[in-house]
Amino acid sequence: MSAIVFTLDLEDHRPNDDAELRFPAITDALLDDLEARGVIGTVFVVGDVVKDQPDLVARVAARGHELGLHGATHTPLPDVAPATFREATAEAMDRLAQTVQSPVQGFRAPIFSLVPGSAWAPEILGELGFTYSSSVLPTRNPLFGWAAAPNRPFRWPCGLVEIPSPVFGVGPLAVPLLGGVYLRVAPGPLIRWAVRTAPDHAWLYAHPYDFDPGEPRWRLPEVGRLGSRVMWWRRSGMADRVGTIVAGSERRMIDVVESAEPLPVFDPAVVP
Ligand SMILES: [Zn+2]
Repeated sequence: MSAIVFTLDLEDHRPNDDAELRFPAITDALLDDLEARGVIGTVFVVGDVVKDQPDLVARVAARGHELGLHGATHTPLPDVAPATFREATAEAMDRLAQTVQSPVQGFRAPIFSLVPGSAWAPEILGELGFTYSSSVLPTRNPLFGWAAAPNRPFRWPCGLVEIPSPVFGVGPLAVPLLGGVYLRVAPGPLIRWAVRTAPDHAWLYAHPYDFDPGEPRWRLPEVGRLGSRVMWWRRSGMADRVGTIVAGSERRMIDVVESAEPLPVFDPAVVP
């Protein structure tokens, strides 16, 4: 039985509102499949999705998954003013809690965007009542990453727990093999090595589109032409790959948090 936590970032990544709405059906089918494999995990949902798809979110909760917030909107944290972030996050957290009839304890920043330029965020998250965040990619990355952050669970100075993305490899070459596009396109032996050597706190992440080979293609401006092609590679094998890795895992992120004590403090103010 796997100890790797299944997590899903539930977001609407369509280029515009006219594009076909596919992610709700993809999510239901994925969670059916995972339920058959005995998997319960944590689903981080964007606030806008809670607003637009409350029934979908309630169905996810009814399956027993923990629900966390994946931002009020899917905007990288450095692009949001702290006061705006506080207000929008509080409102989205409240709406999610009401939708699933349960307190919301976890936060995941869009695109791992908890970085030195948004180091103000953990304190706000702690004040809003979040127990933990899993928003840091502790390596270098073309989009977002915080190479100086610990690669094991830690506390921010305000007390908020951080469960960073597991990374595999050495130094600046380390990558989050158990997530998203990396997990889809990496060769099987490399993924099996990552699973074998995964740390205790390891979680896997994916998005509904990772499981949707039929999604019409478009070019994502932030990753260019090749990157956009890669975004559609090997989606048809993803459900089996993920299902095999997390088969039988009933560990949610909050369970990792509760078993991770004691935790070192990482204070960005005293790190170069
Ligand atoms: Zn996301």
